[in-house]
Order: sequence, then C-alpha cells, then structure tokens
Amino acid sequence: MRSLGRHITMPIFEYHCPACDKHFEMLVRSSTVPACPQCGSTAVDKCVSAPQAPGRSAGIIKSARKQAAAEGHFSNFSKAEKSKLL
Ligand SMILES: [Zn+2]
Repeated sequence: MRSLGRHITMPIFEYHCPACDKHFEMLVRSSTVPACPQCGSTAVDKCVSAPQAPGRSAGIIKSARKQAAAEGHFSNFSKAEKSKLL
C-alpha cells in the first residue's frame, strides 16, 4: 500500500443529545453541524474533545465519566444519571 503523502485526519467526537438522551459519535469537519441520529436534533452537547477510535468509545466514555466524577463535575452524565447520583 502506498502512502499518498498526506495524512487525512477525521476527528470523531462524542455527543450527547439532551432531547432523547442518546450518546453518539460523529465525524466532525469544519462545516459539519452534528445532529442526533435518533431524533435529528442539532442542539447536542459535545462530551469528549479528544479524537477516539470507533469501537472503543464505551470504555473511553466510562473512563471519562470516572474522571469527571472524581473531579466533581458531571458534564458527561445525562440528567437521569445525575439525579441518581446527586
Ligand atoms: Zn436525539
């Protein structure tokens, strides 16, 4: 396989849709507006800012939540989960 001499990065971000409480990953380019695949809402929250490999997100979310909980903020948690914790 030959390299094209140019690295194309496709950052994948984790989003949370507050409308239907769905977490999803989305490839984001500058012109992309992330929309919930379940309900189509574009009013979604970005959860994890670091690019991540597909298929590993569950573990990453888990560790991100663990870290968030340790730091005392709950931005990675949904409303339902917050009410259970607080
Ligand atoms: Zn949604």
